[in-house]
Amino acid sequence: MRSATDFGRPEVVVVGAGNAAACAALAAAEAGASVIMLEAAPLEDCGGNSRYAAGSMRVTFDGVNELSELIPDLTDEEKALHDFGKYSAADYYDDMGRITQYRTDPDLCEIIVSKSFDTARWLRGKGVRFQASYGNQSHAVDGKRRKFWGGLAAEFWGGGPGLVENEHKACEREGIRIFYETLAVGLVVDDNGSVAGVRVIHEGREHAIPARAVVLACGGFESNAEMRARYLGPGGDLAKVRGTRYNTGLGIQMALAAGAMPYGHWSGCHAVGWDLNAPPFGDLAVGDQFQKHSYPWGIMVNARGERFVDEGADFRNFTYAKYGRVILEQPGMFAWQIYDAKVIPHLRPEYRIRQVTKVRADSLEDLARKLEGVDADNFLREIERYNNAVRTDIPYNMAIRDGRCTVGLPINKSNWANRIDEPPFEAYAVTCGVTFTFGGVKISRNAEVEDCAGRPIPGLFAAGEIVGGIFYHNYPGGTGLAAGAVFGRVAGSSAAGYARRKDS
Ligand SMILES: Cc1cc2nc3c(=O)[nH]c(=O)nc-3n(C[C@H](O)[C@H](O)[C@H](O)COP(=O)(O)OP(=O)(O)OC[C@H]3O[C@@H](n4cnc5c(N)ncnc54)[C@H](O)[C@@H]3O)c2cc1C
Repeated sequence: MRSATDFGRPEVVVVGAGNAAACAALAAAEAGASVIMLEAAPLEDCGGNSRYAAGSMRVTFDGVNELSELIPDLTDEEKALHDFGKYSAADYYDDMGRITQYRTDPDLCEIIVSKSFDTARWLRGKGVRFQASYGNQSHAVDGKRRKFWGGLAAEFWGGGPGLVENEHKACEREGIRIFYETLAVGLVVDDNGSVAGVRVIHEGREHAIPARAVVLACGGFESNAEMRARYLGPGGDLAKVRGTRYNTGLGIQMALAAGAMPYGHWSGCHAVGWDLNAPPFGDLAVGDQFQKHSYPWGIMVNARGERFVDEGADFRNFTYAKYGRVILEQPGMFAWQIYDAKVIPHLRPEYRIRQVTKVRADSLEDLARKLEGVDADNFLREIERYNNAVRTDIPYNMAIRDGRCTVGLPINKSNWANRIDEPPFEAYAVTCGVTFTFGGVKISRNAEVEDCAGRPIPGLFAAGEIVGGIFYHNYPGGTGLAAGAVFGRVAGSSAAGYARRKDS
């Protein structure tokens, strides 16, 4: 084993180069520590899932004035015209509680909620820009006016790629070096049980990089088929991965080997409906556009031609992350989303990309024949049953949970139910795309990694997807980037503080 003089003598080593890692590195540098970041990926693939993200960040805000602190280029006309809504801490707690079936760790949740806006403002101060999420989180009301919904009015300028680019530029300005193609494979633990560095593979050789503190911000195990099968269950290995191929669970394994407490929903993950023919891992040229998230406006059927979920149970933000898993459980692990002429103009932009698995027909009979792998007769009977069950007396309104439902079906649709009867008809084939896994390590309020007795492991901190206990069963859209940024910042400043105390 060689010594790692090339890496300098950093006080804090951050493993990863996504959002959580960048926030940790920036916070540690702000607290006066010398910092480096280690990235498994080459430069062209760097930045983890954060770079693949659409870029919405769930933060509290008390109205358009506070929103303007994040988006100072909102014009007076925009402020007067549109209804940006507000999102209180109480709303955030309610959403996190309801969506995770009240399992979210109250301490971790409290920190995310209470620090979300301030962390976004801090990022803005570091040169990260925000924009209003006109595209996916607002609906036209009358004429030019738009109403934002779902509590997600702010997103990163340039989406995930813009976020990572701006964060990496900020790191560069602070003198934080990122070492690419540097895979962390283990922690250096001293005789007292304190973490004292990281072992890495770089240019084909193993190095030990000494450090006073280590922040693990290197993702979950979503890109590791063996761990997906082991923890998510049968079929988990066959899911597609929406983002980076580099989050293989090594960070979690390193922490567990150092005595960290496993925590959270290890058999749970964020998974969505994802184009059936998408590649096995994400493609940065397409980004998140393989997702197909307009199902609340239509229906989904499986190989038997049957509906299998309440497509309109809630706003997309609150159902999309669990329906991928439900699709994985269907025969053949696929589904078709069905739309008619009434809603086709409202499909999200991702339905219009070139790389889409789509069929179109002028009659339902013709469509049924084109749905590969689907029992056509059963499908036609299902559509008829569904159409007859729609409460057409309730007005249809995409901007609210309109209560326009079906009645009397084994699985009813709770909102936005429309008869599917106006040609042309379109159908889109989807399978399960895993975004990230929910199980990870236990951290304290200061982002210290805890051992199985609940004591902090000296010198070890963690943030981002690697942290367990935040999400269970499901996930409110925009919380991954919020949790990563909040705990990244906390972990960086805690690690710097620890390094300083160790020094004195
Ligand atoms: C397609 C898609 C769309 C999404 N959209 C949104 C959204 O709009 N809003 C939202 O809030 N969330 C979104 N998410 C989720 C969000 O991207 C993640 O929750 C968040 O980015 C995780 O940040 P992180 O820093 O923990 O991990 P990542 O950003 O994945 O970073 C992990 C880093 O660690 C590196 N790494 C891994 N293992 C090692 C190792 N052993 N050694 C060295 N480096 C290693 C990786 O290369 C990477 O740089 C989306 C995710 C995807 C895939």
